[in-house]
Amino acid sequence: MKPDRFKSTCSYCGVGCGVVVSRDSKGKIKVEGDATHPVNQGMLCSKGMNLHYVVEDKSDRLTSPQMRWGKGHDLVDTDWDTALDRAAAVFKSLIEKYGPNSVGFYVSGQCLTEEYYLINKLAKGFIKTNNIDTNSRLCMSSAVMGYQLTLGEDVVPVSYEDIELADCFLVTGANPAWCHPIIWRRVEKHKELNPDIKVIVVDPRKTQTCQLADLHLQIIPGTDVILYHAIGRCLIERGAVDIGFINGHTDGFEAYKQEVMKTSLEDASELCGVKITDIQLAATYIEDAKGFLTMWAMGLNQSADGVDKNLALIDLNLITGHIGKPGSGPFSLTGQPNAMGGREVGGMATMLSSHRKLADPKHRQEVAAYWGVDHVPSEPGLTATQMIEALESGKMKAVWVICTNPLVSLPDSNRVENALKNAKFVIVQDISSKASVIPYADLVLPAAGWSEKEGTMTNSERRISYLNKIADAPGMALPDAEIILRFAKKMGYNGFEYDSMGDVFREHCQLTKGTNIDISGLDYDILKTKGTVQWPYVSEGQSPVKRLFEDGKFYTPNQKAQIKVCASKASNEPVSPDFPLILTTGRIRDQWHTMTRTGKVNKLNQHIPKPYLEIHPIDAEARGVKENDTVIVQGHRGKVKVPAKITTDIRQGVVFLPMHWGKTFGSDFSRTNNLTGNTIDPISKQPDFKYSAVQVDKFKKV
Ligand code: SF4
Repeated sequence: MKPDRFKSTCSYCGVGCGVVVSRDSKGKIKVEGDATHPVNQGMLCSKGMNLHYVVEDKSDRLTSPQMRWGKGHDLVDTDWDTALDRAAAVFKSLIEKYGPNSVGFYVSGQCLTEEYYLINKLAKGFIKTNNIDTNSRLCMSSAVMGYQLTLGEDVVPVSYEDIELADCFLVTGANPAWCHPIIWRRVEKHKELNPDIKVIVVDPRKTQTCQLADLHLQIIPGTDVILYHAIGRCLIERGAVDIGFINGHTDGFEAYKQEVMKTSLEDASELCGVKITDIQLAATYIEDAKGFLTMWAMGLNQSADGVDKNLALIDLNLITGHIGKPGSGPFSLTGQPNAMGGREVGGMATMLSSHRKLADPKHRQEVAAYWGVDHVPSEPGLTATQMIEALESGKMKAVWVICTNPLVSLPDSNRVENALKNAKFVIVQDISSKASVIPYADLVLPAAGWSEKEGTMTNSERRISYLNKIADAPGMALPDAEIILRFAKKMGYNGFEYDSMGDVFREHCQLTKGTNIDISGLDYDILKTKGTVQWPYVSEGQSPVKRLFEDGKFYTPNQKAQIKVCASKASNEPVSPDFPLILTTGRIRDQWHTMTRTGKVNKLNQHIPKPYLEIHPIDAEARGVKENDTVIVQGHRGKVKVPAKITTDIRQGVVFLPMHWGKTFGSDFSRTNNLTGNTIDPISKQPDFKYSAVQVDKFKKV
């Protein structure tokens, strides 16, 4: 490759498509799909195709550290030394006065692995707090626990190659046609070539993904566990379970059988709002499949019983023996580009590096010894929404927000706003001056963005890729890792002396030695030569590990997968006469998260230029609402004003709002998360964005 052409990886979703970045004769950046990349084979979706706009448009970029000399003062430009001296002085003083848990870090699945590693080392090893959580808590933590509880560890057992080997797909709580488009393109191509393969989609909305479906089960939100159990019951009754696999490689089948037999198909049909014959048809498709892939995303994970939904779904793979075989397995679709890399370094308040367990004293000691510190604290840190509670109550005094936009993305936005107002000290480290937390920041640190720094990311199929530095960051902006390293030195910590990012990566890799995600033999040179590799990484000459558990041995103590029993739970926020509709939220095709990058691209804004409320015609008529009428969506915690989009694609009794819009671009569009609440899954601590009780009324000018 010529030196002015670089390979990299798309920075949007967890699919992890390869891109080639070059400059044309006028010096303009050009981004193309990498035809040699195993993930996308040259394809890119609309967001990936427009990455170059984000690199070139620096109009909203933060270019200098900024500081307030006191609450109520304006932010003023300053230099890095002054900014980081202030950060260190405030952190030292708070830690001395209130203890290490008075501070915390809220980071992002868009951070590179090296950045994630350093922040975790800093917080857990040196500051001595586990208060380091990530916005991946909002998207993946229920899947993490689902995998841990059934397979023994947080591992996606399949590769994308299994897509072309599957002949039945159960896609649930996901709209990959819009949100994971290149994965979905591979499913579409596979079905074009093999029309007999079956696609089952479970979703209260008829999304673009349903275009490919042989069967769409349009369930009532929140009834997923009942539905998967009903399908499990049908499979058992039809003798379509794999008894050999169950007896040899799993525990818990008898208890599962008793549980699923408790609910008749008639009851399940009524509770879920789907026909009995459709439940039976889904079971038939699975029974006939040689390769059965379950695919899911936020629709399951972002629930008050997100872990149970994961368990009940993974159970379908386990009872049919569809795991560790070609085209088979439970495949959670990761939302963010490096949510998986963050999990590798233990980048959450409840985890430790290399999938080690925070609760295990031996694991804590291993990590502490490796970092050269006396201990890692045992007390689990505060998770995303718990940090907000702690800031609101004053238990936590300072928060450092890196690469995420919590005033738009966290649930119950008004509460988040109060918590930030109440915080003693807020640091915002971001690329964009439009980041919604900046008005509450005492210190703003300008960061380098995609293509302006080097590092690695891991995609949804455990594939690690190296990202080149291609362009310079504007003004004084620095790579996130460099900011953390400078801060660690200001704090007086020894252990953050690195000659290069390659050294940071090597340190992370060595810490994985002997674990199930072992990449200890990996370094930047290998990644630059090979392009990408999957973990666990095996040395040259051995076959790469594409699919886990082919030997039928799982990562549980007795090496058997655990078929879990769970029961469907009623919502914490049931509908009522005052709030009779169920609100569910999600993404649209051409926007990413809170639009700090995609919102700058005119081409992407053209697809759907403004927020809308999807509402069924019967619900609209009952309220006198016509297409495009402005409506007020009122919930328990706040309200939102949007135009109505009337469609039969959504179930009666359910309404949908896209999650992207907020105050990020100074727009007066209301934040969707004014309506969502603080209910979290008790195991994963993931907030519920998929079930809030609301009322909708036509807006009347007064
Ligand atoms: Fe980027 Fe995801 Fe689109 Fe691939 S599918 S180009 S990774 S946004």
